[in-house]
Amino acid sequence: MAPGFDALDRAAIRGWLRETDSTTLEQLWREADRVRAGHVGDQVHLRGLIEISNHCVRSCLYCGIRACAPGITRYRMSRDEILECARDAARLGYGTVVMQSGEDPELTREFVADVIKAIKAETGLAVTLSLGERSDDDLLAWKQAGADRFLLRFETSDPALYRRIHPSLPGTLSDRLRQLLRMREMGYEIGSGVMVGIPGQTWSILAGDICTFRDLDIDMIGVGPFLPSPRTPLGGDAAARFRAEDGEQVPNDELTTLKVVALTRLVCPEANLPSTTALATIDPARGRELGLTRGANIVMPNVTPPRYRVLYEIYPGKACIHETAQMCRGCMERRILSIGRRLGTGPGGRKGRGVGIEN
Ligand code: SAM
Repeated sequence: MAPGFDALDRAAIRGWLRETDSTTLEQLWREADRVRAGHVGDQVHLRGLIEISNHCVRSCLYCGIRACAPGITRYRMSRDEILECARDAARLGYGTVVMQSGEDPELTREFVADVIKAIKAETGLAVTLSLGERSDDDLLAWKQAGADRFLLRFETSDPALYRRIHPSLPGTLSDRLRQLLRMREMGYEIGSGVMVGIPGQTWSILAGDICTFRDLDIDMIGVGPFLPSPRTPLGGDAAARFRAEDGEQVPNDELTTLKVVALTRLVCPEANLPSTTALATIDPARGRELGLTRGANIVMPNVTPPRYRVLYEIYPGKACIHETAQMCRGCMERRILSIGRRLGTGPGGRKGRGVGIEN
């Protein structure tokens, strides 16, 4: 019997994640879409994504741009190149730019603060950062420079799995949950998320991740399927030894990802939820639209110049990699309108807090 929606505790969420009956799942899709419409409306907000550097000091077992990944050409965009992308985002009508990178210490406190100030002064766009684990002093400086939001996926709420897939740097302890809470105190809107189907992720762990989104009242929640990169320990034959036992390992497929999006909408009705590039990668034809009709209300079209995009390969076959910013804009607009939704206007921040939300 379907678990229902009244008391979505960890056990009920786990039940829904394991549900396979398509008629029963229709109830979940309908409810997620109803809650999405009621709480964040029909607008789909577009965030222009700028992948500013693929340098990274970390060795996360899942990520194709990890420090020791073989055969990568590394790049770091200049201030002027980043600003030009931000201008493109403004010209294309986006309300936000997201600056994302590997964890790159050469993106210094001063450099990033200066870029934030310049983007704000020239475009007035909301600025989201996704630059990995950084010191409180860096985060404060960037907030003071005008940054509005920060995305930092906690990747898994299970401490043992986290330590296995996301090794700490020597002499430090990686604690993404702490950074998220600190950033909230500093006034950032905080974004987080997980990959679905990472080896070692069980149904109970994934249900716990969704409860953690609710417990932390996360403002933006990105979930996509784990996509194995052959450049990583979780991408080759050795990955088998990381898997949970049969029946407990979560698959990294589209259906499970969509269940996570829908359940996340139910437990965090006012959060901003992107329909992710990873979802579009496993289903180029319909992935974005399915995400948007099962709980999501955000898309993040890429505005990175194509010559850099191809080098930001966190997993193979990434969607939209050869398109220009203009092409991504047209494609997203068609997809949004095809499902009867509207293009968002303004910054589209978290309802009731941050840099202005309203639909
Ligand atoms: N360095 C920053 C950080 O770690 O937060 C931002 C960039 S990182 C590449 C952005 C996200 O990509 C990660 O949080 C992770 O969830 C996702 N990612 C990395 N490797 C992936 C893979 N193989 N499949 C799917 N998602 C992946």
